[in-house]
Amino acid sequence: MKTDRKNIDRRSFLKYMGAGAALVAAGCVRSNKNDDISTTGGTGAGEGEMTYRTNPKTGDKVSILGYGCMRLPTLPGAEPGQAAEIDQESVNELVDYALEHGVNYFDTSPAYCQGKSEGSMGIALSRHPRDSYYIATKLSNFAPQTWSRDKSIAMYHNSLKELKTDYIDYMLLHAIGMGGMESYNGRYVDNGILDFLAAERDAGRIKNLGFSYHGDIAVFDHLLSMHDKYKWDFVQIQLNYVDWLHAKEVNPRNTDAEYLYNGLKKRNIPAVIMEPLLGGRLASVNNHIAAGMKQRRPDDSIASWAFRFAGSPDGVLTVLSGMTYMDHLKDNLRTYSPLEPLTDSELEFLETTAKEILSYPTVACNDCKYCMPCPYGLDIPGILTHYNKCVNEGNVPSGKNDPDYAKAKRAFLVGYDRAVPRLRQANHCIACGKCKPHCPQAIDIPAQMARIDAFVESLKQDTLA
Ligand code: SF4
Ligand code: SF4
Repeated sequence: MKTDRKNIDRRSFLKYMGAGAALVAAGCVRSNKNDDISTTGGTGAGEGEMTYRTNPKTGDKVSILGYGCMRLPTLPGAEPGQAAEIDQESVNELVDYALEHGVNYFDTSPAYCQGKSEGSMGIALSRHPRDSYYIATKLSNFAPQTWSRDKSIAMYHNSLKELKTDYIDYMLLHAIGMGGMESYNGRYVDNGILDFLAAERDAGRIKNLGFSYHGDIAVFDHLLSMHDKYKWDFVQIQLNYVDWLHAKEVNPRNTDAEYLYNGLKKRNIPAVIMEPLLGGRLASVNNHIAAGMKQRRPDDSIASWAFRFAGSPDGVLTVLSGMTYMDHLKDNLRTYSPLEPLTDSELEFLETTAKEILSYPTVACNDCKYCMPCPYGLDIPGILTHYNKCVNEGNVPSGKNDPDYAKAKRAFLVGYDRAVPRLRQANHCIACGKCKPHCPQAIDIPAQMARIDAFVESLKQDTLA
C-alpha cells in the first residue's frame, strides 16, 4: 500500500540521518582518509561552525553547503539575447565571504553563465590558497558538434585554464540522461572520453570522477551498473522534499529522489545534491504554506526547510545552492552552521507540504537557463518565474467572480513589467521551438509562452474595457 511504503520510506530516511551523528572537530580542509561522515558542533543555527561531511575515499572534509556557480551576479546593460557581463567584484566578495565562513566546495561548468562562470571562478578562487577549496566542474559537451574526442578534450583543458589550476577535485560527466543512451554513448563512450577521464584520474589530475544526472533513468541505472569498472567517487542528483517521493508529478520524465539516493547509498557513493529548492520554487511557496512554516520556526527562512531536508541524509556530501546575492549566502550559512537535522514530525510536515505545493498550478521551471538565450530575446525563465511567483502569492486572478480579481490583476501586470522588460515578454515568442529540446524539465516552452501571453492579453483587454 502506498501509505505503508511512505511510512517505511520515512523511517529509512530517519535512519540515514541518525547514522552520521558522530561529532568531530572540523577546521582544516584536508584530513586523514577513512574518517566517517561527521558533523561539527555549535551553539545553535547560525552561531556554530559549518557542518562538514567526509569523502570516504579521499578524506576531503567538504562543507555541507556547496557554492553553485550557475547564477553568478551580473552587471546591468546586456542587450536582449546577449550574455550579461559577470560582476567580478561581487563574485570575489561572495567567494571571500563563503570561504571565510567555512564553504569550501565550488561547483561550476563550461556551460554556466553562458560560458563565463569558470573564468570568473578562476579569478575569484585563485586569490586563495589552492588547498583551501575544492573545485567541481563538468565535461559539458552537450551539442553534437562538441562530441568529437578532440573537442571534448579541448573543453577539459580549457576548464583547467579558465579555473587557473592543474587539477580538478571533482569532475563530472554533465547531465547524463538528457538525450538517453544515444547521447550518453555519443558524448562519452564512442569517443573514448570516459576512459580518458578515468586515465586523468589515475594520473592525479582529476581527484574524484562522477556524473550529474537528469532525465532518462536507464542511463542512471546503466552507469551505476558500471560502478565496479569506473568506481564513481560521487554522483550529483536532484533531491528536495517534493522530488523525494513526487518527482513524476513535477515532470513525468523525472525519477523520485528516494530511488536515486538509495541507489547511491547502497553502493556507498557520496551524493552531491542539486536543486534543493526545486529551482527556487521551495524558497517562494504559497503564502498559506509559508505561514505554516513560520508558525513552526519563526526565525527560519522558508528556504531553510528545504536545505535542512537536502542536507539531512548522511550519504550527502554537499548541497549546492546557486547564491547570487550575499543575503542568500548568509541565510544558507545560518541554516548549515551547523545543520540541525529534521525531526520526525518536521519530515511529516514537509511531506504534507510537498503534496500541497503540487496542488498549485505552477510551471515546473527551475530557472536553470539551459533554454537561453532565446534568439528572439525572450527572458523565458523570467516569464515563468514571475508567473509562478504570482500563483504562490495569490496574484493569478481566477476570473471576474474572484473577490480579489482587480487587486490580483494589477499585481500581476505591474509585476510582469517590472520583472521582465516588455521587449522580452511572452508576446514576442514566434514558436520557433529552438528552446524546447534544451529544457531538462520537459516544459513545452512555446505552449507556455502562448498560454501566458493569452492570459496577459485577457487581463489587459479587461483593463482597457
Ligand atoms: S519558441 Fe519562443 S521562447 Fe523558444 S526560442 Fe523560439 S521564440 Fe524563443
Ligand atoms: S524553461 Fe526549462 S530550460 Fe528554461 S529555465 Fe526553465 S527549466 Fe530551465
